[in-house]
Amino acid sequence: MVRHLRGIRDLTLSQIQQLYELADRFLEVLQQPSRKAPALTGKTIALLFFESSTRTRLSFELAAKRLGADVLNFSAAGSSLSKGETLLDTALNILAMGVDAFVVRHGGVGTAYFLAQHLPVPVINAGDGTNEHPTQALLDTYTLRRHFGRLEGLTLAIIGDLLHSRVALSHLLLAPQIGLSLRLCAPPSLVPPLWYRVGFPIYHQVASAVQGADALLVLRMQKERQKNPPLASWEEYARFYQVKPEHLTEGQVLMHPGPVNWGVELHPALMETSSNRILDQVLYGVAIRMAILYALLRG
Ligand code: ASP
Repeated sequence: MVRHLRGIRDLTLSQIQQLYELADRFLEVLQQPSRKAPALTGKTIALLFFESSTRTRLSFELAAKRLGADVLNFSAAGSSLSKGETLLDTALNILAMGVDAFVVRHGGVGTAYFLAQHLPVPVINAGDGTNEHPTQALLDTYTLRRHFGRLEGLTLAIIGDLLHSRVALSHLLLAPQIGLSLRLCAPPSLVPPLWYRVGFPIYHQVASAVQGADALLVLRMQKERQKNPPLASWEEYARFYQVKPEHLTEGQVLMHPGPVNWGVELHPALMETSSNRILDQVLYGVAIRMAILYALLRG
């Protein structure tokens, strides 16, 4: 297995497949009464979160605990960062306590790459600014694989804030490896200009992007990374780019990496639709993160 998971490019197709297969095994474990597979007993995993998180942080913590590892939880708030300690010093001090792997979320692009250069233990990227969120793309595609029984030949429409979403870039890198066709949909102001050259079709209308797609991945509007609304107003964005019940057809799968801003990128009526697989993604996220921790620490 690989040494770090800094981004999707760290993985070959066969490693990606191994992760999906390991996740299948861990999902079975999660469905048993004990829910534990103590393969990482004696290991300590540090979660370094410099940006907020609910699902990623908790599911990494749960994944580590289900595997029998100890977890050290670091949050920027209340730490010595406010006294001027750097990211690297923080990580080196935590390492000195006896840590076997780091899971890192940070607002800076490339922070997982930077830490991996300086730390002698595996580093897993849990989101680096607007760059990548590889474990999210793996769990989204794992959700599709569980639902459809395959990935090859499926079409996934990714709709929303392509410019600021780290989830989108990880999908862009993952899809060609696993044979998934992507369609990308956003207002022109939220499409990174070079993406017009990548080869995936880009749409500016939700209805056309979703027509005939097997699944939709709707992205949160990253308001914290934007100065102005992408169209003239947020209301206008919701009017033209919100995914609404009429956009979905029977059999299509609806995903979102969370947190969802209901009423912005997704119509609230979609909470109840049978297409909604958002909570499946959350459960599968634990299994995928167990697979990643196991592969990096024992694989
Ligand atoms: N939770 C995902 C992330 O951290 C998606 C989002 O925040 O919109 O990138």
